[in-house]
Amino acid sequence: MNTFDVIIVGAGPAGSLLGYFLTLKKINVLIIDKKKLPRQKTCGGGLTRRALDILPFDISEVIESYPHTVSISVQNTVVFQYTSHSPIIGMVMRDRFDYFLIKKAISQGATVMDEAVFRHVSGMTGHLSVETSKGVFKTKIIAGADGVYSKTAKALHLETKKKTMIGIEAEVYCDSPTLFNEFRRSAGFDFGVVPKGYGWIFPKKEHLSIGVGSLSKKVKGMQQYLYRYLETKKLKNHSHIQSMRGWLIPYGPSKNSLYANEKGLLLGDAAGLTDPITGEGMFYALREADIASRVILDALSGKQNLSVYHDAIKTLQQDLTYALKLQGLLYKVPRISYMLMNRHGNRLGKNYIDIITGKTTYYKLYKKIFSVRGVKRLFFTQDKNSST
Ligand SMILES: Cc1cc2nc3c(=O)[nH]c(=O)nc-3n(C[C@H](O)[C@H](O)[C@H](O)COP(=O)(O)OP(=O)(O)OC[C@H]3O[C@@H](n4cnc5c(N)ncnc54)[C@H](O)[C@@H]3O)c2cc1C
Repeated sequence: MNTFDVIIVGAGPAGSLLGYFLTLKKINVLIIDKKKLPRQKTCGGGLTRRALDILPFDISEVIESYPHTVSISVQNTVVFQYTSHSPIIGMVMRDRFDYFLIKKAISQGATVMDEAVFRHVSGMTGHLSVETSKGVFKTKIIAGADGVYSKTAKALHLETKKKTMIGIEAEVYCDSPTLFNEFRRSAGFDFGVVPKGYGWIFPKKEHLSIGVGSLSKKVKGMQQYLYRYLETKKLKNHSHIQSMRGWLIPYGPSKNSLYANEKGLLLGDAAGLTDPITGEGMFYALREADIASRVILDALSGKQNLSVYHDAIKTLQQDLTYALKLQGLLYKVPRISYMLMNRHGNRLGKNYIDIITGKTTYYKLYKKIFSVRGVKRLFFTQDKNSST
């Protein structure tokens, strides 16, 4: 059978969750991925509370750890530490997490084809031919969840002109349980370890996922920054690296981006919406899967046109434009922003926790900071329990 209601290109979190939601509603779905599944994806594997809350099923079997503490440092000085009884970030390894999601879609009836490369889509609205390395398939709608270099976006003329940041990630095994214990309870974010970016230490079940990411294309030798970061944390000579990989994170798609037309839509990294400060992308991928599934169901039943997806996604993009403004302040004038983080680490850190737990948005945070009271507070007061 070569005919489907929806063909999804890409079996990452965006594509798999979309496939799950659609098959749950008895839609005939094909998901293709160019890689053999399960596949590895370069990623810190931090699923924030707001991302976890979107998932409609229990994922505890693929959770490596739930560090209850988040700590933020600036140039090796802790400026914020917060411990909560409920988990703030769930840690996963992407090969296991993504495979778990695709199996969920299969369990509802999705057809999945791996090692199938998307090549092109042609045809009239509602009668599309999708050309892949494993043959041609017919569909009514195509969804591009094929990551930062999305070929589907190009084929649908939905180019989003995204910017990219670069991230490098290592899976690090400590030589002793005592050393591992120092890091295992906290998700750590360290600013000042790489220009225009930060480093992270995310504890997994038996090891640490450690990485550095930067916005700057001029930063050469990311590996050296990572080694230096390990050295600062006294890990370099007391641990071994099992694997190290780099990849791009898209962010800040242009204002004129088109996320959907009458033939298909884009989601996840293919759409280019991620947190431009931290590179968090899984929340957006899962959120867009949820939104896309509703829009596709309505389009298939003739209630509304696929292009309403564009407006729904625009709302996410608009919030991220405020994150982008804050990113500019943080990374373009690091001396001032590090000084402010030292003074107001507590307040800023709590706001960040509120964002990743879904209690507030970047828009609200931006308005709070740039109200007259906010500016006065920032420059003329200091957190009571700040570290400086
Ligand atoms: C170093 C690094 C660290 C990160 N850390 C975090 C983190 O801790 N937390 C977080 O939330 N986000 C993080 N991210 C971002 C996160 O990894 C992405 O935002 C997320 O994977 C996006 O999911 P997706 O489903 O859109 O795309 P992907 O996970 O990239 O999946 C796309 C899929 O499409 C397939 N594909 C591509 N082209 C084709 C084609 N032509 N035909 C068929 N299939 C194709 C690929 O094989 C792939 O399986 C990080 C990213 C990097 C680079």
